[in-house]
Amino acid sequence: MRPYQYYRPRNLKEAIDIVSSEESARFIAGGTNLVDLMKRGIAIPEKLVDINHLPLKKIEQKAGILRIGALALNSEVAENKIVKAKYPLLVQALNAGASGQIRNMATVGGNLLQRTRCTYFYDTAFACNKRKNDTGCSALGGINNMHAIFGLNEKQNEDSCIAVNPSDLNVALAALDAVILVMGMKGERRIAFKDFHRLPGERPDLDTNLERGELILGVELSMENLSKHSHYLKVRDRAAYAFAIVSAAVALDIDQGTIKAARLALGGVAHKPWRLYEGEKMLVGQPVSDSVFKQVAEISMLDARSFEHNAFKMKLVPNVIVEALKIAAGRP
Ligand SMILES: Cc1cc2nc3c(=O)[nH]c(=O)nc-3n(C[C@H](O)[C@H](O)[C@H](O)COP(=O)(O)OP(=O)(O)OC[C@H]3O[C@@H](n4cnc5c(N)ncnc54)[C@H](O)[C@@H]3O)c2cc1C
Ligand code: SF4
Repeated sequence: MRPYQYYRPRNLKEAIDIVSSEESARFIAGGTNLVDLMKRGIAIPEKLVDINHLPLKKIEQKAGILRIGALALNSEVAENKIVKAKYPLLVQALNAGASGQIRNMATVGGNLLQRTRCTYFYDTAFACNKRKNDTGCSALGGINNMHAIFGLNEKQNEDSCIAVNPSDLNVALAALDAVILVMGMKGERRIAFKDFHRLPGERPDLDTNLERGELILGVELSMENLSKHSHYLKVRDRAAYAFAIVSAAVALDIDQGTIKAARLALGGVAHKPWRLYEGEKMLVGQPVSDSVFKQVAEISMLDARSFEHNAFKMKLVPNVIVEALKIAAGRP
């Protein structure tokens, strides 16, 4: 680990000023991802801005909107009474992530921004466009079993990065149409969750559309009638303490056996949490039935493309979609 300057800003503005003025400067929250990256020489911040004492910890409900502060711990959110009652999907996704100890350190803001777990990204002996753009992608011709099948370049062999977003929380927030509140040098803005993370394109080194120095203040969720029939299904190599190979977040509004509204998002399959908009449209107005769920899964796979070692996802993903829908609808 290289030497760095440690800052403890007195307020939000001071924190934002420091990180905006220095390209390598980073905010640090729980440190459960950033410190690992620093130890391996992947992140080399000259200035580390500790935000832990800033007033961004509250979880509060106002006028039908639930606001979760960026510094709320993953474990605090999962234990919060309102979150438990209104957003069981979020609780399931949070509790499926990492371990109890890590969830006691990890914050919501840090979880949104955790970096991919592609092994080549963490090993500086290998070329990686995400670590340094235009150097190549070792996963393309390497071991790519954990990698993406959606959101890839239209032209095969022109993918700049096939890594996946590793967060469980992000998949649930995608399904719940969360809004991210951020503050930067130009003031505050609200970012729809679908626009928060990006596909790799020409800039695989960037994971999000945040501008330099922008601080996440919190996440907003509106109260909708999607809590009764929801489920987060995570498939992983071990029962605990492992990242998703594939996961699905499902929330359904069901009235007398008919689906009135549907949200469907996948994890472990793309550079960003992957919403299945076509599948959602198809579900609306349909009865709860296994054959409808299978059709939705088939339609959802039309844009998928696999690589040498992750072809198994082409079978696993539709099965996960169907299973998650069945459990959410109460008919596993
Ligand atoms: C062994 C292990 C297993 C794990 N397993 C899982 C898993 O199964 N599922 C899962 O989802 N996650 C898993 N994680 C990841 C873990 O959830 C993240 O490391 C954690 O959520 C990051 O939060 P943090 O507060 O520690 O972030 P930090 O490490 O402090 O920061 C991460 C990044 O976010 C930035 N940042 C932090 N807060 C803000 C803010 N408010 N505004 C702007 N930028 C900010 C930092 O600058 C940094 O770039 C695992 C981690 C470990 C170490
Ligand atoms: S998939 Fe992305 S993170 Fe992995 S080696 Fe390729 S460019 Fe790097």
